[in-house]
Amino acid sequence: MYETGVNNLYFHVPFCRSKCLYCDFNSYAGMEQVIPRYASTMELELKTWAIARPWSLGRSHISSIYFGGGTPVLLGAERVRKLLEATRASFEVDAAPEVTVEANPGLIDKESLEGLLQAGINRLSVGVQSLDDKELRLLGRIHTASEARAALGAATSAGISNISIDLIYGLPGQRVETWRNTLEEAISLSPAHLSAYALTLEEGTPLAEAVRSGLLPEPDPDTAADMYLMAEELLSSAGYEHYEISNWARPGRECRHNLDCWHGRPYLGLGAGAHSYVASYRFSNIRLPLEYMEYLESGRRPQRMIAPGLGPWGDAAREGLPIDTMEHITERTAMAETMMLSLRLSEGVLADDFARRFGRPVYEVYGKEIEDLIRLGLVSGDGQGIRLTPRGRLLGNQVFCRFFT
Ligand code: SF4
Repeated sequence: MYETGVNNLYFHVPFCRSKCLYCDFNSYAGMEQVIPRYASTMELELKTWAIARPWSLGRSHISSIYFGGGTPVLLGAERVRKLLEATRASFEVDAAPEVTVEANPGLIDKESLEGLLQAGINRLSVGVQSLDDKELRLLGRIHTASEARAALGAATSAGISNISIDLIYGLPGQRVETWRNTLEEAISLSPAHLSAYALTLEEGTPLAEAVRSGLLPEPDPDTAADMYLMAEELLSSAGYEHYEISNWARPGRECRHNLDCWHGRPYLGLGAGAHSYVASYRFSNIRLPLEYMEYLESGRRPQRMIAPGLGPWGDAAREGLPIDTMEHITERTAMAETMMLSLRLSEGVLADDFARRFGRPVYEVYGKEIEDLIRLGLVSGDGQGIRLTPRGRLLGNQVFCRFFT
């Protein structure tokens, strides 16, 4: 039922220069002094996994490595190089893996990017978010639009050809015209890949609080839908392939790391709060950076982890792995997740792949749900498989929840 080994490693670097106003990720400002210790701890975690090799990890062959955050460029080139070296010493690694690092404008220049390139990265994902200074201030980003342009210019001059840009739309009070300007300028910068996500107002963030208290207007979902359709139109006219609900790429430049996740393939996450999916278990590491480091360095478990219980969770804890929460993914859940993740992709759920993985045709397992969704005009289906219609792409969450009931 599940694939053995992992192809995909993720390093989580949960430190930021300051906290953006919309962000509820596991990331912390004001802790940069612990970065050297944290990088050594991730190396230690990597080695611990390599020695323990629980479940089927011995059969891993890594083809994608992703440094995400937080702000992973704060690691610096030398620590990235050491982590890549430790990865090669711990796992079999593809001759030409995709190695991505997320980068924030304002914190990178040509020299630091040349260093990262020499350290082994070959793909840069730049958190531009907007090319409008007013919107960047609203989001609490540390950079300006001209710093974002400079960062992209520096990446190109450093010789990085595989560049992705992240954008956010649907901000409180955002006008369609400023979104069009951001999109048109982003396209003119010719990145290999572009992601555009609708803003989610996460509870407890300053931005959500400002909207709740009436300081900022509630984002308008109809305007956000218009912005999404505009992105579809402009990006496809510019030759980008819309391969996933929120992602566009030049042919052959799709993000390997994300594709693996959407295809439901196993991945191993390292670092504080990192998530993994291995051998039909989904688990996450100790979330707080200091607690994560103390555990790996001393082997002393946080109090709430003293009685880890039986089964794989207990095995992992005994091996010294910093796993905090673990969930067994039943076959029924794995099927529903496959529907949700594959439908995000333009290729959709491939009928043959589903049958090979679960031993049953998708139309037999989800006949009723698929019939209803086709009637509502949200998905289309044929012998090849099932995919979202343009209307379904706008109402993805309403489609996905059908498979979890
Ligand atoms: S840079 Fe990214 S992770 Fe850090 S606070 Fe901003 S949105 Fe969150």
